[in-house]
Amino acid sequence: MIRFSANSITSLSYDLTLVEALFRLGARPPVVCAVCQVGKKTAIRIYKTLHQRSPKQGMLPYDPYWIVRSSVNNIHAAIFLGLVHDLSQPHSQPAFNAEHFITAYELYCRVVSSNPHPSKLEAGVAESILLDINRAWQLAGQLNSSEMGLAICEKCHARYVVLNKMPQPFHQCPICDVWADRTGRRRWTTVKTQ
Ligand SMILES: [Zn+2]
Repeated sequence: MIRFSANSITSLSYDLTLVEALFRLGARPPVVCAVCQVGKKTAIRIYKTLHQRSPKQGMLPYDPYWIVRSSVNNIHAAIFLGLVHDLSQPHSQPAFNAEHFITAYELYCRVVSSNPHPSKLEAGVAESILLDINRAWQLAGQLNSSEMGLAICEKCHARYVVLNKMPQPFHQCPICDVWADRTGRRRWTTVKTQ
């Protein structure tokens, strides 16, 4: 018989609440294992109980340049990573935890789904939630490892995301440094060719 102390039962049920919250937000088991430090088997068992099916197999798709593919992607990343940054500010250690991650992602979803004028990209996804939680986890990792950083635009004062390794001309504000082509697609000024 396994004996749990009152404390370990509390922290166990607490972790399961976080695991469940992540799965309900669309997280895949590898992300849940990393965020909540639960074993793979446990994560898959909980996933199956919640969703009544097996999780997708294989590696998580990963695109380190997602934030520069489109200015709209950058705006979404900035909303989410700005929240992650602000939530973890008062507690410098640890810089990142499961609760901050879930809270930031839930707030991000609330902010973007209330956009009255979605762009083409946003209109193509449910509730304008362009940033899937699994990608959100990868972005948070890129911010934590300083591969990415948050910058403030000198013109409009918006906070946006930059890839630190990319040269300065590519650190563009997703609001000021864009233009719309004939189809209405927003393009970075660096790719203005005509
Ligand atoms: Zn700007």
